Order: sequence, then structure tokens, then C-alpha cells
Amino acid sequence: MASAAIPADPALIDDLVAANRILYNEGVVDGFGHVSVRHDKAPDRFLLARSMAPGLVTAADIMQFAAHDGEPIDAEGRTPYLERFIHSEIYQARPDVVAIVHSHSPAVIPFGVVKRQLQPIFHMGSFLGGGVPVFEIRDAGGPATDMLIRNLALGAALAAALGDKPVALLRGHGNVVVGGSLREVTFRAVYTEVNARLAAEALRLGDGEAVFLSDAEAAAATATNRAQIGRAWDLWKARAVAAA
Ligand code: MN
Repeated sequence: MASAAIPADPALIDDLVAANRILYNEGVVDGFGHVSVRHDKAPDRFLLARSMAPGLVTAADIMQFAAHDGEPIDAEGRTPYLERFIHSEIYQARPDVVAIVHSHSPAVIPFGVVKRQLQPIFHMGSFLGGGVPVFEIRDAGGPATDMLIRNLALGAALAAALGDKPVALLRGHGNVVVGGSLREVTFRAVYTEVNARLAAEALRLGDGEAVFLSDAEAAAATATNRAQIGRAWDLWKARAVAAA
């Protein structure tokens, strides 16, 4: 018997819609990419829009999924994202994770295909300080995938590559960012893109050499930034609403 949808907090749905709009407005997602949040009343479920452009998502587009298999509970004719297994497998592997962004944000892509690691170039990117793993889909899916995380096995392999980190890059595809709230994951997704852009520019100016934050600096800055996330969210949300 199919399980029934459990109503989520309407404020959480509103925040998920806002996160979709913000990530589009800030250039993290375009017609593609997605953001999800763990269900506030059923931790083995998550909320994610139907397959559509994030910038157009409304509350009516939010679907409920089971974390154990990534399948929709209340499809009602709506088509789910092909790459929903990114979300289901990370929610299973990471009880601490409350929200997930998957994007193809452009400045990050180069760091997934070169030997140089993405490192924090400034204090706003400090959460990158613990290291940013790169997921190689050939290791899990063989030499000729279409690069998409289109099944449970690929989702599980990506979750394993992410480990306990906040960000992982998908070689030749994009990145995944996790957080303890929609506000935190949105903050991290925006600043992963900004940090990548600035790091590439610094490396160009410095002929491949740049000074990045040390692990100690990154940890200290992350602790400071934690209290400031709401300020960014309020600004980005107001801007996204004005742009809609
Ligand atoms: Mn993708």
C-alpha cells in the first residue's frame, strides 16, 4: 500500500520556494539544478519541487519523497527530477543534513576537472576549509554514463564521496552542497560559486599561486559567519521577490 503524504509546515514550504527563487536569482541554478529540505515531521522524507526550472517553483510544485528509495509519495501526475537520488542518498547517509542544493553553477566546474582543489579564498568561503572532494562518476558508473545521478547506486557513490563535508564537486557536471537548514545551504551554495570565481581569478593574477585561508582561519571564520546567514537570506529573498 502506498503511504500517504504527511503535511509539512507551510512555513518550511515557503522557505523552500524562496530558496529556489534565490538560487536562480543569484546565478547558482539556471533552468536546471534543485534544492530540497528534509521533512519537518517525517525525517525519512524530503521535499523537492517537481521537474521544472527552479526560478518558477511555487508551493503547488513541491512534492514529498521517501529518503530510502528517492521515489515520490504524492506524485499526482507530476514528474520528479531525474537526479532526485542525489538527495535521497545524502539524507540517508547524513542525519545531520537538513537541506541540499545540486547545481551546475558555472565557476565551480573548472575545479572539478583539474588537479588543483577548490579552497577558501576569502572568509565567506570558509566552510570549504575542510576540503572539497571531487566525485568521479567513471568509478561508480563506468566509462560512458550521461554524467547524471540517475539511480540509487550513483547517488550512494556520490554520498560516499561527499563523506562528512559540506560540498562535493561532480567532475564534468556540477556540485552538491549540504547544510543544517535551507538558509545555511543557500548561503553555502551562493558562496561556493563566488569563491570559485574569485579563486580562479586570484590564481590567474598570481600565475597559479595564491594564499588561501588556513584550516584554523577557515574554522574561525565559519564560526563567525554562522550568526550572519540570516542577513544574506533576507537580502537575497527580497531581491528575488522583487525580480519575480
Ligand atoms: Mn545535474
